[in-house]
Order: sequence, then structure tokens, then C-alpha cells
Amino acid sequence: MMEKQKPVLNLHNVEFLRSAVKESDFPRDALPQIVFAGKSNVGKSSVINKLLGRKNFARVSAQPGKTIHINYFLIDRKMYLVDLPGYGYARVSKAEQQRWGALMESYFAMDLLTMGVQIVDIRHKPTRDDVTMADWFRASGKPWVVIANKLDKIKKSQLEANLAEIRQTLLLPEEVPVIPFSAEKGNGRDEMLALMFAHVGKEDIE
Ligand code: GDP
Repeated sequence: MMEKQKPVLNLHNVEFLRSAVKESDFPRDALPQIVFAGKSNVGKSSVINKLLGRKNFARVSAQPGKTIHINYFLIDRKMYLVDLPGYGYARVSKAEQQRWGALMESYFAMDLLTMGVQIVDIRHKPTRDDVTMADWFRASGKPWVVIANKLDKIKKSQLEANLAEIRQTLLLPEEVPVIPFSAEKGNGRDEMLALMFAHVGKEDIE
């Protein structure tokens, strides 16, 4: 029998590193940083939990938009999962919107991003804030993936049209994949993990 290959990353070995609120909080070592962004309530915490195979690791948000900080998780001491603050919460103040913008500005200016993961709702046309977030990723020049979450909430017949609308609205370059995903059911998990693993250095593969 063939020997079972060891996985590139042990997803169970995950630790919360810190909440970053300013530039000096960002880790600057050579480890890859996979960055997750999405509108409040799109299911970002649920997607992260699903990918890590955890029930409640990234907090499922009780108060959307209340936290403007970047959460760093260290996975198997080989890569960072970077959880950007949710955006687009209707009741957020102007001052908080500005803090969000300033934090994005300082994160993207440092050029720490390895791969961007933008989560949108597969049911709806992306919002203006989604378009703004897409602009940040596009301008970074780094690989970027869109997760179209809540797949379980649409009919199969709606899938193609909704994916096309997401692609058009976010002005996605051809090479940016859109992955239909359900944090509830697990669709898209393997495809997304394969993309994440592809960004961990070959020297780390045992
Ligand atoms: P966040 O604010 O983006 O972190 O969103 P949460 O992870 O807190 O999820 C917001 C709500 O959407 C919660 O009630 C989740 O249970 C629900 N949710 C998240 N992902 C999915 C999904 O794929 N399918 C369904 N049906 N519900 C989801």
C-alpha cells in the first residue's frame, strides 16, 4: 500500500496570536499571510471556522462592525491567517469608517499580504463596500480569491447568474477564482484549502 502523504499544514495546530490595531502590531517575519476580508455578517468567522475544522475559533460575531482590529492566527507555525475587520455595517459611525480605512491603509502599505481571500454573499450583488475591498486587493497586485458564501441559500438554477454578477461587479480579473462556498455545509472547503496550501513554501512540505 502507498504511504499516506503528510498534509502540508496541520490545521489543528492553530493559535490566536494577537489583535493588531496599529502598524507595529503586524508580524513582519517571512511567513505567508493569507488575508480574509468581508462585509459584517457575510459569514467570515463561520468560513474561517469551517476551514480550520473548528466550531468556534474565530468568534462568530454577536455585534457586527463593533471591532476594528486585525486578528492574527498562526497556523502550524507556518503561515498566518489574517482576519481583517468586517466592513459595511450600516450603523457604524463616520469615525469608525475612517479608522477602518486607516487600518487598511497601513496594512496594505506594508506589503505583507501573500494571498487575499474576499468573502461575499452568493445571494446578492456585491455592495459598494465589497467593490472598495476588491479595489484594495486588486491594487496589492497579489493573488486573490473570492469566496461566494451561503451557497446553501440559493437554488442551483441561480448559481451561474449570481457568480457572473459577482465577477462583473467586483471587476475580477480572469485569474481570480470565485469559489461557491457554504460555511454551513462545507462546500468549497477542499478547493479553498488547496489554494491556501499552495502558498506555503515547498521547503515546509514534509
Ligand atoms: P461575520 O460577521 O462575517 O463573521 O459572520 P458570522 O460568521 O457571524 O455569520 C453571520 C450569520 O450567517 C450567522 O448567523 C451564521 O450562522 C450565518 N452563516 C454563515 N455562513 C453561512 C452559510 O454558508 N450558510 C448559511 N445558511 N448561513 C451562514
